[in-house]
Amino acid sequence: MSLLIKGGIVITMNRNGRIIKDGSVAVDGQKIMAVGRTEDVQREYGDAEYTIDARGKAVLPGLINPHSHFLQILVRGLGTRLDWGQWLSEYIYPTHSAITEKDCYIASLLACAEMLKSGTTFGLDNNFIFTTPNNTDSIAKAVAETGIKCILAPGPLDSGIAPEELRLDRDSALRECRKAIEKWNGKEEGRIKVWLGPTTPGVNVTPELCYEMYEMARSYKTKIIIHLAESQKLLRVIKQKYRVMGHVNFAHKIGILDENVVAVHCVWVNDSEIALLKKTKTSIVHNPTSNAILGDGIAPVPKMLKVGQKEALGKE
Ligand SMILES: [Zn+2]
Repeated sequence: MSLLIKGGIVITMNRNGRIIKDGSVAVDGQKIMAVGRTEDVQREYGDAEYTIDARGKAVLPGLINPHSHFLQILVRGLGTRLDWGQWLSEYIYPTHSAITEKDCYIASLLACAEMLKSGTTFGLDNNFIFTTPNNTDSIAKAVAETGIKCILAPGPLDSGIAPEELRLDRDSALRECRKAIEKWNGKEEGRIKVWLGPTTPGVNVTPELCYEMYEMARSYKTKIIIHLAESQKLLRVIKQKYRVMGHVNFAHKIGILDENVVAVHCVWVNDSEIALLKKTKTSIVHNPTSNAILGDGIAPVPKMLKVGQKEALGKE
């Protein structure tokens, strides 16, 4: 046995909610061999090559962060008093236009290290910056080196509020997506998975490209992650541009809501859209800290849970 986590309060998170007051976890290589009372685990497995004394500590399964943008760690704290559109156009897009491969690698190392230090063992990165042909590889390299589990969800921008220098044309965008899936999906003994992430449908990615990414994800039996109804301004853009009321309604209209889709935010949604998300089996990621920074609404999570909606908590 390679590792014994010994003598902690083990919160198993199993169906019965079992908590073991003097508990231990035995690990061999990549596999958890036993979770139980310390004396039982030790009797069965003996000593390990490496032992962590967990007395006075809680031992629980790794946390999962189902939504973030690793590169934004480089500009953390900038523009936090602005609204969503200003924050993107005045800080995120201009600073991200200068990002290099090395920046991608360093930002991702830092993002993964922060997650691991907080007990998060599984993250998701929705990168929309393709300033070099190797941005995805640099992010994946950092993920591979840190040992974390991660979903990479590349999502090139092609329109709208995205500035010219950050847009890819349709063919280049789809090529980046395909390359990422073929090169990294299932790599590092399955630790890395690739989804696609057309960030904000209709606002910085055209409906056509969104749909093609959705179709590509389906053809590879993987998923997509999208931002929906994050701000009121965004709803006005959708209404003016496409004559559709509601961002969830818009996503449904272009045919990209189903059980293979994870929708981030869903702050500005009405009751019929909540019902639509449930009916289409779309999952939702709630990002309370991001909503708090923007000061542009709070997602109606209690309502969504009431109708049986799947919700996860993300960092953004
Ligand atoms: Zn996001």
